[in-house]
Amino acid sequence: MPVARVFIACAVVLVTACGSNLPPAAPGAPPAATAKVVDAARLVAANQDVNNWLSYGRTYDEQRFSPLQQINAGNVSQLKLAWHYDLPTDPRAHEATPLVIDGTLYVTGSWSVVFAFNAATGALLWSYDPKVPGKTAVNACCDVVNRGVAAWNGKIYVGTLDGRLIGLDARTGQVVWTVATTDPGMRYTITGAPRVIKGKVLIGNGGAELGARGYVTAYDAETGRQVWRFYTVPGDPSKPFENPILKTAAQTWKGQWWKLGGGGTVWDSMAYDPKLDLLYIGVGNGAPWNRAIRSPGGGDNLFLSSIVALRPDSGEYVWHFQETPGESWDFTATQSLILAGLTLDGRPRQVIMQAPKNGFFYVVDRTNGQFISAKPFAAVNWASGVDPVSGRPLENPQSRYGETGKPWVSTPGPGGAHNWQPMAFSPTTGLVYIPVSDLSFPYFPDKHFATHPLTWQTGADFDAGSLPQDDKIKAAAIAASLGHLVAWDPVAQREVWRVAQNHPWNGGVLATAGDLVFEGTAMGDFNAYRAATGQSLWSVPVHTGILAAPMTYAVDGEQYVAILLGWGGAVGLAAGEIALASHTSEGNTPRLLVFKLNGADHVPEATPTSARILQPPPDLAAAGVVAKGKQYFSHSCGVCHGDSATSGGVLPDLRYSASLADPQIWNNIVREGALEGHGMVSFAPEYSSGQTDAIRAYVIHRANQDAAKQRQKAAQ
Ligand code: CA
Repeated sequence: MPVARVFIACAVVLVTACGSNLPPAAPGAPPAATAKVVDAARLVAANQDVNNWLSYGRTYDEQRFSPLQQINAGNVSQLKLAWHYDLPTDPRAHEATPLVIDGTLYVTGSWSVVFAFNAATGALLWSYDPKVPGKTAVNACCDVVNRGVAAWNGKIYVGTLDGRLIGLDARTGQVVWTVATTDPGMRYTITGAPRVIKGKVLIGNGGAELGARGYVTAYDAETGRQVWRFYTVPGDPSKPFENPILKTAAQTWKGQWWKLGGGGTVWDSMAYDPKLDLLYIGVGNGAPWNRAIRSPGGGDNLFLSSIVALRPDSGEYVWHFQETPGESWDFTATQSLILAGLTLDGRPRQVIMQAPKNGFFYVVDRTNGQFISAKPFAAVNWASGVDPVSGRPLENPQSRYGETGKPWVSTPGPGGAHNWQPMAFSPTTGLVYIPVSDLSFPYFPDKHFATHPLTWQTGADFDAGSLPQDDKIKAAAIAASLGHLVAWDPVAQREVWRVAQNHPWNGGVLATAGDLVFEGTAMGDFNAYRAATGQSLWSVPVHTGILAAPMTYAVDGEQYVAILLGWGGAVGLAAGEIALASHTSEGNTPRLLVFKLNGADHVPEATPTSARILQPPPDLAAAGVVAKGKQYFSHSCGVCHGDSATSGGVLPDLRYSASLADPQIWNNIVREGALEGHGMVSFAPEYSSGQTDAIRAYVIHRANQDAAKQRQKAAQ
């Protein structure tokens, strides 16, 4: 059964990553496009281009607000499915926001595959599979995801998981140019959507759990020629700095940080102010997380966990604001960046807003990086607040587990109080809508830190921190893992309303002029709320968990709302027991749903799944071997296959694996790389056969523990 499950998943992968052809495109040319191409003027005026969604956050200010109001609070109850399309991609997390340009919808699936549809009918126009090698998955911290494409002058751009940036012909999907934006010898990945400013395509990358040094690069949109690159953290100071500001930044680092990468990857958020001609980038966490290892002796470690403003033509540094100096908790500042005009103390201010992982909502003057205000938008215990003058957090000294050498249970944790799931701002209500995760995490200092060829290197001990098997402690941890959608007033810095959710890992948000806020949930519900009050107005079960953000567009006078289904990602993979306890959507079908008023299509029914019974081989290994196996599992396997060997429901749950009963199958997969094409690489470079046998012994032990519980439950 479990092997069958693995190979069913592989059959799906085969369609995309393993070389077979995608289904043929539906006949017919794209809808009659207007003569207007996507150019600089059109992108600057995108807000007035009401029918379209031209870039990742719809407009350069990334507000994710649509002026469309044909669908509104008065009639949203009549919203029905117009069309749907089942993507032939791997059933894992799908995180993309579609673009719609003059009647064509562009979206990406897992493994960086791009699809173009007739936005009114759902007919597939073309698809493009960049054939990302399956082994790349081991470099992806958080699943083989992609968040979408960018558009410019008849071309569509996608960043691929294995570090390429590709320009495609928007009409045909044919490759126009390809460029490698990362060193294939390093463990970089691309999951974020590119942006285009004045004919330059901007792309960052991820990998700060894996020894990366962060940067963002600009390429000529017509040719793919590199124009500039900005590194976010300094490299080896014995060599020339790539940029003068890095000399200043290097003074905030100690030790030999460059040998461990440093981190600061720009893996998601960007925004642009055309009047100020400033590009804003969100910079990620330190590599490794633990500052005591990364920069022994302390230091702010610029530009980790910062918003940085650059000149888009040259990559020249203009200003920065650092949210978490000396970052140690995977507190990225890569979450949505939203530009808006606010009236503060009677004065109009041009601000940039962010609700980063660290739990504080920041309002910063975007003309100069001056701090304005910050308040907690979720439960926070690592800092008591933010200094109203300097903008620096008032840290709880105990939170510095690296420096104290003692464990610290932090709220929030590395999943963040808010992660990549986009927030939205409505200029009509003046509110920011944030998908909030209520999650804590135990950080144990890693006393034996070493770099590894394959697994995460954080400087936090994941074995010591793994979810305890004591049922009461576990139940309490699960009960505390919740989520909510919050409407936040950025002027008063206070919560206006919230909708409670019984899972911490829900979807991104869309706001519209129809007084509506749309959001999907981990439970597989797609919801609409009144933007002003949070009143629930519409909800439809879609039978697959949602992480992506909805978007809206119009074709021929008809408004549509689109949402991409597919669950997984960082928390979906790793927080196994937490995820399983409440993630109850029945399946995980990558599917694009498009709604309109009185649509005639129907959401397909759930695929029923039968309850699985654990039938592991006998638990015969010595306790010492099991303990060693637990240590290796927590270090190298748990991030994808789930804490305590309980999968979050996306990747195979190893407790059910037939390879437990057959050491040869286990060996073929774990040491020989039999499933490398599907993302499971050989761990032979990192572990001896005795060690991988110990991992198997631990999983057998865990399966027997839980089989006993299953039998006990069945007998009751
Ligand atoms: Ca990270």
